[in-house]
Amino acid sequence: TSARVVVVGGGFGGATCARELRRSGFDVVLVEPGPVYTACPLSNAVLAGLRPIEAQQFRLDALERTGIGIVRKRAVRVAPEDRRVVLEDGAALDYDRLVLSPGIDIRFDALPGYDEAASAVLPHAWKAGEQTTLLRRQLEAMEDGGTVIIAPPSNPFRCPPGPYERASLIAHYLKTRKPRSKLLILDAKDSFSKQRLFQAAWQALYPNIIEWVPLSSGGKVIEVDPKTRTLVTDFDSHTGDVINVIPPQRAGQIAQAAGVSDRSGWCPVDPVTFESRLQPNIHVIGDATIAGGMPKSAFSANAQGKVCAAAITNLLRGQAPVEPKLVNTCYSLVAPDYGISVAGVYRPVNGVLTDVEGAGGTSPMGAPPSFRAQEAVYAEAWFKTITAEVFG
Ligand code: FAD
Repeated sequence: TSARVVVVGGGFGGATCARELRRSGFDVVLVEPGPVYTACPLSNAVLAGLRPIEAQQFRLDALERTGIGIVRKRAVRVAPEDRRVVLEDGAALDYDRLVLSPGIDIRFDALPGYDEAASAVLPHAWKAGEQTTLLRRQLEAMEDGGTVIIAPPSNPFRCPPGPYERASLIAHYLKTRKPRSKLLILDAKDSFSKQRLFQAAWQALYPNIIEWVPLSSGGKVIEVDPKTRTLVTDFDSHTGDVINVIPPQRAGQIAQAAGVSDRSGWCPVDPVTFESRLQPNIHVIGDATIAGGMPKSAFSANAQGKVCAAAITNLLRGQAPVEPKLVNTCYSLVAPDYGISVAGVYRPVNGVLTDVEGAGGTSPMGAPPSFRAQEAVYAEAWFKTITAEVFG
């Protein structure tokens, strides 16, 4: 009988890895409670009213048709010594190798005042779905002349350019529909991904709408009061009509339960096999990992899913895993016809995924509108391609 691999999490990382492992001929079981997966990439366009949420939603039926066993339950525990995953109903799955791709959990204990109840008033919208539509409704209900606040966390977190793409697309909505409104970014950092490109675009497109307050100017939010819609920073407090708190995060809960996350809340892995450094026979991919220079993106999770599946295939066949090179590209929309991107290539150096110097880079500064429009087309084409490859 063929070896069995259990994959927990049917998002970009897990679904990719399961598909590749099945292609190698293994008995693959994918554990994912949600009947529908709502993808985060392009969900900022949903907030701006440029896309329906349905365009973000995918089912696992096509994966099931490849012969992968789909178990629509939550994994709650792992017994590494027995190589067994326990599900929410007490049922258990034995494995030869386990892959965890649980994505992130919001740390509801990290920002005073921001607990799960607060997220119903001040949505994070950092897991796409209900939270996305809630934030969209709040933006629609806001009167012209209102203030929107976005409060991004310090590093590391899911999708480094995401908060700034969000600010851009919400600003686009305000500019076209509620032009007297303002958008304030209260940031826990002094710099961010594609910063020069974003700031140049904001100067050109949204000069009187977006204001960015970095950490060193007192931007870091240290306390939240959902009742009065107030964010407290080091020197000040700010009230907003619509407030999007993007709180600190950590690897999804099952990572803690499996003993593969460290004190940082994230999971150290071997960059050749993505096997956990803390538990043998358990691999971790996607946002949950500490992946050196690689950002937490769907592109990265997909690339890691393929590398991990190839390594497991070799390991289960008694062959040595092959040293990988991984690629990431993140597109961001600044307006519907204005895209920018950052790309990188990574390889293991002394056990750490490291940027290959001279490879990758960002979109050029000062490019003409036609160039930005082309990248906006690429952004959507990338999304169509990756979701067709993973879920189609
Ligand atoms: P996820 O995609 O979150 O999948 C995790 C899955 O695991 C979920 O389906 C969950 O239900 C399941 N799960 C969790 N725990 C359990 C359990 N115990 N048992 C069973 N199942 C479980 N990335 C890009 O590349 N490009 C972009 O343009 C981009 N834009 C973004 C915009 C926003 C606003 C946000 C928030 C993110 C964006 N990202 C983007 C990042 C991208 O969404 C994530 O990096 C990606 O989803 C990570 O994949 P993953 O497999 O690690 O986790």
